[in-house]
Amino acid sequence: MARSYVHEARRRVGPKRNRIVPVIERLAEEHPDAVIALRFRDELELLVSVMLSAQTTDVSVNRVTEALFRKYRSPEDYLAVPLAELEQDIRPSGTFRQKAKNLQGTMRLLLEEFDGRVPGTIEELVRLPGVGRKTANVVVAERGAVQGIVVDTHVRRLSQRLGFTQKEDPAKIEQDLARLVPRPDWGRFPHLLIWHGRRVCNARRPRCEDCVLTDLCPSSRV
Ligand code: SF4
Repeated sequence: MARSYVHEARRRVGPKRNRIVPVIERLAEEHPDAVIALRFRDELELLVSVMLSAQTTDVSVNRVTEALFRKYRSPEDYLAVPLAELEQDIRPSGTFRQKAKNLQGTMRLLLEEFDGRVPGTIEELVRLPGVGRKTANVVVAERGAVQGIVVDTHVRRLSQRLGFTQKEDPAKIEQDLARLVPRPDWGRFPHLLIWHGRRVCNARRPRCEDCVLTDLCPSSRV
């Protein structure tokens, strides 16, 4: 019964290949302000912000980094303080012990292998402690060299609801999306889903009645 309902819903909206561009266009119109919410001024601040944003909100990260970036301006600055001091400086961002350890490990590797600069490829970035593919994807995208599609909790949920993927694993979801989303849209696509996820397609109670995608979404309740 459930299976035939899903089948029927997919038939109603049509194949995903035909829906992807209208979905992007409508979301772009609906959320013209859909850009990264983290505040940073250079590539090092970008990397640190994204590392701190794991399992917390961008708003809390911005609160922490306002003071943090006044005190720590270079990779050396992060290594010049005891680990406990860095932990206290990033404490409100959550899981601060692990994050502080990763930050110092990352700064060490930046100095040892990358001349103190943030590297430009995903392959290099994921070698840094605490930097996974998602973080690396965000960093390269914000620097204007998109190499993949960021998959966070919102991107995963919306991609599944919109019938763009049936996978659970972020790396596999990214592969599905990379086959579907036109390459020039790889950078903005995750931001559009993230903002739509926050504002309309919430995890617990999607507001389908206020959604611009109802006729394109197999999970629509209206
Ligand atoms: S129609 Fe509903 S489930 Fe589909 S994207 Fe919109 S809010 Fe989410």
